Amino acid sequence: MMSFSKILMTVAVGFAIWYALRWYTRKPARRGAPPPRRRDAPAASGPVEDLFACTVCGDYAPLGAAPCTRADCPRR
Ligand SMILES: [Zn+2]
Repeated sequence: MMSFSKILMTVAVGFAIWYALRWYTRKPARRGAPPPRRRDAPAASGPVEDLFACTVCGDYAPLGAAPCTRADCPRR
């Protein structure tokens, strides 16, 4: 039969492992991630191109992109 101190020790060790795992899985994400972007922050710089879906294969590509490998690709 387990004594009360052994049960208490088991609970304490279990709590310590749970807390350590929680800390271990949370820390790297917070350290490496950039701060959350605000809604009114300026958009990323660089040209923005609209993508068009290929009517044959369904691929999305910019208008000037090379055609896909299918012979009936409309971009060909
Ligand atoms: Zn295509």
